[in-house]
Amino acid sequence: MSHLSVHVPLDGGRAYDILIGRGLVDAVGAQAAALGAKAAGIVTDETVAGLYGARVRASLERAGLRCGIIAVPPGEASKSYAGYASVCDGLLALKIERGDLVVALGGGVVGDLAGFAAATLRRGVRFLQVPTTLLAQVDSSVGGKTGINSPHGKNLIGAFHQPRLVLADTATLDTLVEREMRAGYAEVAKYGLINDPGFFDWCEAHWRGIFSGGPERDEAVAICCRAKAGVVVRDEREDGERALLNLGHTFGHALERLTQYDSARLVHGEGVAIGLALAFRFSARLGLCSGQEAGRVANHLAMAGLPTRLQDVPGGSGDAEAMLDAMAQDKKVRDGALTFILARGIGQSFIAPGIGRDDVRAFLQDELR
Ligand code: NAD
Ligand code: MG
Repeated sequence: MSHLSVHVPLDGGRAYDILIGRGLVDAVGAQAAALGAKAAGIVTDETVAGLYGARVRASLERAGLRCGIIAVPPGEASKSYAGYASVCDGLLALKIERGDLVVALGGGVVGDLAGFAAATLRRGVRFLQVPTTLLAQVDSSVGGKTGINSPHGKNLIGAFHQPRLVLADTATLDTLVEREMRAGYAEVAKYGLINDPGFFDWCEAHWRGIFSGGPERDEAVAICCRAKAGVVVRDEREDGERALLNLGHTFGHALERLTQYDSARLVHGEGVAIGLALAFRFSARLGLCSGQEAGRVANHLAMAGLPTRLQDVPGGSGDAEAMLDAMAQDKKVRDGALTFILARGIGQSFIAPGIGRDDVRAFLQDELR
């Protein structure tokens, strides 16, 4: 089996590898055994359990591990106190101990939920990420942020807990619905927009191969993981540079909040796509980047089938004031001023603290006209 690999050189014995390639779900057992685990609790959602649960279980059993599957309902609603309790109790019922492994098999919801359960169960058990959505493979499975949502907002309860290994089986993306594929693609394009203009050029030329499952898919996942790993190693706890990964997310998170996290209306990556387009248009409006660059960003996202305007949100995004209020609830707010990730051009993003509400309001009002 040929695969790509990316090393995440964290200190304190926490370094790990990300393996990327087709068929890796069948290697979970051998990898878990190599880590010395005797048992594994597979945490997944019901959809992914039906598609890949049996293969992962068989792989673990072949390698001599005792294992069980805990499946939560698919969707963001499982990243809740109730979902967390059911996963922890499920793992305890399986007698998962400190030397064992939690295997997070699924998208970002499962990765965040299982990772947070692993971070806190018995004060911390090791875990493996086996991401099965494009978003999870290029973003959420790498970097050690885990957590659940509170009624007060997204990801407000969490912990940093790095996985021991990430196995990104790119063949699992063959069963992903087109809409989720596109949503993950917004995060792929984001890496080019942050600091890699050459990668954005490459995306414009090769995005179809990522969708169809050509070698471009593995290559793109590896490039994104390498980029994220680099940022995480330099700024693990988001004291600085890591915030750049939030390009498009201040607007995106506000849109998710305003649509009540209803995935029928908007999924995370769609919010990010609109947020990326808005971040570039806002940057252009502030005279930081050219309108032409902002247009190129929106064109590419739209070409890949992603929404790029507030008007694209089914049922509407609410007015400018509602957007501002939703943004003010973001973690990246300090003393009433908003921190945005803005750009001087494609691949030239930077952290811009202290953006005034009036500038944002005027921009949003024009966007909604
Ligand atoms: P998700 O986990 O809800 O998965 C999307 C849908 O795809 C689900 O219905 C799932 O059942 C289905 N699915 C998953 N894999 C499949 C496959 N291979 N074939 C068919 N269907 C499949 O959503 P997501 O977009 O992967 O993740 C979103 C979550 O990730 C959000 O909660 C977000 O906050 C979180 N996130 C976390 C980080 C981080 O650093 N921890 C970063 C980005 C996003
Ligand atoms: Mg994201």
